[in-house]
Amino acid sequence: MEIGRVLFLGGAFLTHAFVGYALVRGFTDADPRIGIVFGLLPDADFCFPAAWGWPLVHRGVTHTPLFALTVVAGSYAISRYRETAVAVGLAIGSHLLIDSLSPKGIDWLFPLETTWSPGLPVHSPTATVLLWAVSIGLLRWRATDGRTID
Ligand SMILES: [Zn+2]
Repeated sequence: MEIGRVLFLGGAFLTHAFVGYALVRGFTDADPRIGIVFGLLPDADFCFPAAWGWPLVHRGVTHTPLFALTVVAGSYAISRYRETAVAVGLAIGSHLLIDSLSPKGIDWLFPLETTWSPGLPVHSPTATVLLWAVSIGLLRWRATDGRTID
């Protein structure tokens, strides 16, 4: 894999993890590491062998609202904590929202294949700085609003 691709993917992974962390930390009392794990979960599809084909490809089934709802319901069924399910939903939802704005988009209506996307460069340096700035702002707000810091 070429170095430019490695840097692009590394930046995208870090951004998804950080945005998920900040959302969970900012809006829930759940363990913010949930935001890292579930902010990254949809991109586990990079591990799928290419031979499997659609929908087990990058931006396939793991990047759909149906998958996200299944994971959120599963997290609630296992933990029995609403706060955990909300945290999981924020993290995985942020990943899908960010990726849905990119040129490749996501399949919002899975199992139907859709191709619509606004085509925004969501993993460009400018968008990355913006996402990190908003996330840092959220963490600063959380740290200064009188709520406890873990
Ligand atoms: Zn993704």
